[in-house]
Amino acid sequence: MGNRPVDDVIVVGGGIIGLSIAREAARSRLRVRLFEKGKVGCEASSAAAGLLGPQIDLESGDPLQALGLASRDLFPGFARSVAEESGLDPCLLEQGTLVLSRGAAEIEAIDRQAAFQRSLGLQAERVGGEALRRLEPSLNPDLTEGLYLPRDWSVDNVLLVEGLGLAAARAGARLEEGARIDRLLVESGRVTGVGAGGESFRAGAVVIAAGAWSQEILGAGVSPLPTHPVRGQMVCLGPSAVPVHPLHAAACYLVPRRDGRVLVGSTMERAGFEKRVTAAGLSTLAAAAIAVVPALAGAPFHSAWAGLRPACGDGLPAIGPGGAPGLIYACGHLRNGILLAPITAQVVGRLLRGEDPGIDLGRFDPRRFAGAAPSAAVAPGWP
Ligand SMILES: Cc1cc2nc3c(=O)[nH]c(=O)nc-3n(C[C@H](O)[C@H](O)[C@H](O)COP(=O)(O)OP(=O)(O)OC[C@H]3O[C@@H](n4cnc5c(N)ncnc54)[C@H](O)[C@@H]3O)c2cc1C
Repeated sequence: MGNRPVDDVIVVGGGIIGLSIAREAARSRLRVRLFEKGKVGCEASSAAAGLLGPQIDLESGDPLQALGLASRDLFPGFARSVAEESGLDPCLLEQGTLVLSRGAAEIEAIDRQAAFQRSLGLQAERVGGEALRRLEPSLNPDLTEGLYLPRDWSVDNVLLVEGLGLAAARAGARLEEGARIDRLLVESGRVTGVGAGGESFRAGAVVIAAGAWSQEILGAGVSPLPTHPVRGQMVCLGPSAVPVHPLHAAACYLVPRRDGRVLVGSTMERAGFEKRVTAAGLSTLAAAAIAVVPALAGAPFHSAWAGLRPACGDGLPAIGPGGAPGLIYACGHLRNGILLAPITAQVVGRLLRGEDPGIDLGRFDPRRFAGAAPSAAVAPGWP
């Protein structure tokens, strides 16, 4: 990391958020350097299931609603251009998602969801009985009611992250792997770069996209952004011919991949930075999947893993300027970071170019936690 010129932008973190921003900024002809402590995509972004489901549990006004829907609309173009730039197809599957319900309370919930979503002009079809079975013949016959969301899709997030890394590099971003940033450089109240061990790297703007670790990157006089990890375990079965659609039930979701694997997720646990797969996690998810698609009982076990979702205390992401000029945050995307990558990159790209972000970032303002102790910033009810 010897003697360096000043960059326009330094991005800290090479997950889907950091890579999407680096690609976007490099395509705007900004000089971009990204630092990743491990390998690009080595954390939550590769652990995810790749559901693109802003409608899955949308039942009433939700602060993430507009952001999620806007990002989903960007996805086909985003996936296509990443594929063209990288030569890697991220397998966007646009066959729609089924939300399944069992019992009166869950059925009432999908009725409310359907009514609310249609009032917004969104496509949401209540399906039951034979119509449901025709859509997804593999379902347990106990599951007789569902909500079909034709525009909630899925993507192979591992391929997408790999493609984004290639696309960002081809656009001119320099990706430094094995490079752990440990501090912000602050001069006269302005963030002017980052430090790693004894070395300093300067840039016009620093974007923190370090996922669950974002709160570790501190600078003199800069209020820390409280982030914490929420562990999610995932079980992968198959190859199996079923199911055809992503399925979302109360106890689990199932996401089929084009190569026949089926991802079953996921737990929401506060377990610190421990990425262990537990016996309870594995058995609960496998049993829940078989209760939805009984034929999976005969599917081979493929693999299992855990990842750390990045969370801010109130469950909403932090996107926008930080507490000092020159600093931008893009982290805390919790369960929706794959879905929200295109819109986050678009908004942060605009901020880096000095343009209007184009959407109201008020609820996602990183400065909302200024002065709060990390523990105090965790809202009740959030893991
Ligand atoms: C099991 C599971 C299932 C999920 N399913 C979905 C889903 O279906 N749909 C969806 O939209 N989202 C899903 N998510 C959430 C999604 O994975 C995350 O919101 C998203 O990956 C966050 O991306 P990120 O780039 O912010 O974080 P990460 O992918 O964690 O990337 C942050 C990067 O920063 C690096 N880093 C950290 N500290 C430093 C440092 N000091 N210096 C340099 N680099 C550093 C890390 O090594 C890491 O690579 C799921 C998550 C999990 C765990």
